[in-house]
Amino acid sequence: MARNLPASVGFLVEVSEDGGSPLDPVFASLGSRTELSERIDGQSLRAVLLHSGAPDSAHAHARGTTVILAGELYNQDELIRLLPGDASPVGDAALVLALFAVYDVHAFRLLNGRFAALVGSAGRTVLATDHAGSVPLYACATAGRVLAATEAKALRAAPAGRPIAARPVRRLAGVHQVPAGTVLDIAVGTGKCVAHQTWTPPLGRRIVSENEAVDSVRRVLERAVAARTGSDTPLVVLSGGIDSSSVATLAARRSAGPIDTVSMGTEEADEFPQARVVATHLASAHREISMSTADLLRQLPHAVWAAESLDPDIIEYLLPLTALYLRLEGPGRRILTGYGADIPLGGMHREDRLPQLDTAVCHDMATFDGLNEMTPVLSGISGHWSTHPFWDRDVLDVLVGLEAGLKRRYGQDKWVLRAAMGDLLPHEVVIRPKLGVHEGSGTTSSFTRLLTESSVPPGSVHRAKHLVVQQLFDQVVVEGRHPDEVKTDAVVQWAADRLDADARTAAQ
Ligand code: ATP
Ligand code: MG
Repeated sequence: MARNLPASVGFLVEVSEDGGSPLDPVFASLGSRTELSERIDGQSLRAVLLHSGAPDSAHAHARGTTVILAGELYNQDELIRLLPGDASPVGDAALVLALFAVYDVHAFRLLNGRFAALVGSAGRTVLATDHAGSVPLYACATAGRVLAATEAKALRAAPAGRPIAARPVRRLAGVHQVPAGTVLDIAVGTGKCVAHQTWTPPLGRRIVSENEAVDSVRRVLERAVAARTGSDTPLVVLSGGIDSSSVATLAARRSAGPIDTVSMGTEEADEFPQARVVATHLASAHREISMSTADLLRQLPHAVWAAESLDPDIIEYLLPLTALYLRLEGPGRRILTGYGADIPLGGMHREDRLPQLDTAVCHDMATFDGLNEMTPVLSGISGHWSTHPFWDRDVLDVLVGLEAGLKRRYGQDKWVLRAAMGDLLPHEVVIRPKLGVHEGSGTTSSFTRLLTESSVPPGSVHRAKHLVVQQLFDQVVVEGRHPDEVKTDAVVQWAADRLDADARTAAQ
């Protein structure tokens, strides 16, 4: 089972000149912990790796250089061809180590993956995110000491570091989040940092025929799903919308037996009938998980704890998935989602005007970084590994780069994807209008109701949601409380009282 998951799903690493004092390795993600300790040219490197039983291929060491990698690569075959002779390193960390020896920091421009990585070598600590920053990575650098972790909460007790070319984390002095598609090259002695951007979403748009666009979307998505399915039966979180149905059908086509699918819903809303159409079509082993909106909202602290995001809209998308993952008992599974297709395809844009569609795509591609929408910790809190084929680097390059008229066409949103899946799914699925996960699960409506029932005026609901998420972040990330100890109702009441007090002050 463990072999079907990445070798490691998280780490806390300290590189120091004087041995330092170890931090408490606090993670929301579940997993076994393995400690590593190495000397690199007078510095000590100490790491705690979070894993599911086979951490060996998550770290590699040769000729004074160490690589630690959480997550996985999806283009190993291409990468191996770049190496001299008949070298074929075993495991993703060894592959990155071999590429680093040839390309140094530019090795990270070559990778298509879902990972956060650290390279330690004489006097240097190199930190790298994948193109989408899909495995969040945080760092804190002082002269003589660099700390890095895949969850910000693991650095909450770190000494205040110097500013580096990365985003400061709220109320954690000196802790920064490494941007998406970025390598930070830090001189350990001084804490000085040089940033290299390794990926950026395409800004130009390609003009191609319908057939060419449809073929390229089908091909690149097939590859992304294949690279993510692993050796065991894949599990797809399925809404019955075109995005997750596409992933499910492509996963089913390459699976020897029936795949597993699961849908969640509440008493307020579900997409069970729509998901069932797809599950029946694919003959998947399908499961429906129902929960009350009260139970769903009780897990808000867990969603913020896992995502470490301050954005209330993102937390509304992630809450139903967090609640779903928390109910998936049993050994860790590899989970595929249809998450994120709407961003490069402008799927949230529900009208025909193309300039507005491309404006939305440009805006969303320029602002996704730091929202942690794709973080594996959401499923990691119940020991699972989730991965999102639509945010594969090659899929994004194709989807973002298509001219807007191929995304919105014949009155349909995400036309090129629907056309690419036309022969694989029932027609009713192919033409089904978009319904967001926050809508189809009743998350937005029930969260809004909880606030208005706590006397938040309707016009202040979004501000109240922002306050609730910020307060939860402060409690479970900054202060390090466990989310089981934090009550959504109490935080909602605190936000309502605070808004009321602000309104009274403004009226005076
Ligand atoms: P569409 O965007 O056309 O509605 P979709 O439902 O597949 O397609 P989203 O609504 O953006 O995509 O939802 C994001 C992802 O979250 C889905 O692709 C799916 O993997 C997962 N998801 C959404 N709703 C549910 C649900 N009710 N149960 C299980 N998984 C869900
Ligand atoms: Mg949907």
